[in-house]
Amino acid sequence: MPAQSLRFDAVSKAYGETLAVDGVDLSIAAGSFVALVGASGSGKSTLLKTINRLIAPTAGRVLIDGVDVADGPAPALRRRIGYVFQSIGLFPHMSVAENIGIGPRIAGDPPANVARLLDLVDLPREIATRMPEALSGGQRQRVAIARALAPGAKLLLLDEAFGALDPVTRDALGTEIRALHDRLELTTILVTHDMAEALLLADRVLVMQAGRIVADATPAALLNGGGGEAAQALVAVPRHQADRLRTLAQERTA
Ligand code: ADP
Ligand code: MG
Repeated sequence: MPAQSLRFDAVSKAYGETLAVDGVDLSIAAGSFVALVGASGSGKSTLLKTINRLIAPTAGRVLIDGVDVADGPAPALRRRIGYVFQSIGLFPHMSVAENIGIGPRIAGDPPANVARLLDLVDLPREIATRMPEALSGGQRQRVAIARALAPGAKLLLLDEAFGALDPVTRDALGTEIRALHDRLELTTILVTHDMAEALLLADRVLVMQAGRIVADATPAALLNGGGGEAAQALVAVPRHQADRLRTLAQERTA
């Protein structure tokens, strides 16, 4: 199955007076790795959840390969979409293998190839019989990614999926996810508040502010000062840190 394209067609979501998503028009090419960046409350999670119908837009539509996600039953749609969020949500009373296989099992599909999926996310196969409580945070997050990909999903949605991890694990897992994306020819949307992570991993960075996409640029363009004011304010943070570290290193060695 080839990678899937995505289109948001005037998508809005209101909660009472609050417009969490405000008329988003957006096309995402099949096979791209897109980062969605923005401050807390800017509407990133809400926009992401309109893709797998955890949230229904109050206006507009979302299309995968030209087909409205609202057509057909939601469970069938969700099985085709890998979705990983911060609070992982592994079933504590199920082994790693059972957690990974839950999607195909519920659907009555052929069982997941647990060994292959563990290989894919770089976990030792022996881990299959362990319970989630016997894993580190990084290992749990890898199991969650294996589970998300088990039904053969070609669309991967990551919502602050590395948020609870220590920086070293987070960095490693980010790089691995990017490699996995390339190898499996996925279409990936990574929601993050971390501009450095977005710049390092994505092909395209979208900045969200008050429910709207206010910047849409490549990492190279952003690093060269493009993308507009909101984007540059976010790029300034890691750039400043890098500058300060460089200065500090020079002072120490001087
Ligand atoms: P982000 O993921 O960027 O932090 P969210 O999409 O979670 O932002 O939230 C966008 C806006 O919608 C925020 O103002 C938030 O308070 C509001 N919101 C989100 N979920 C709900 C909800 N279930 N009920 C009411 N308001 C909500
Ligand atoms: Mg969120």
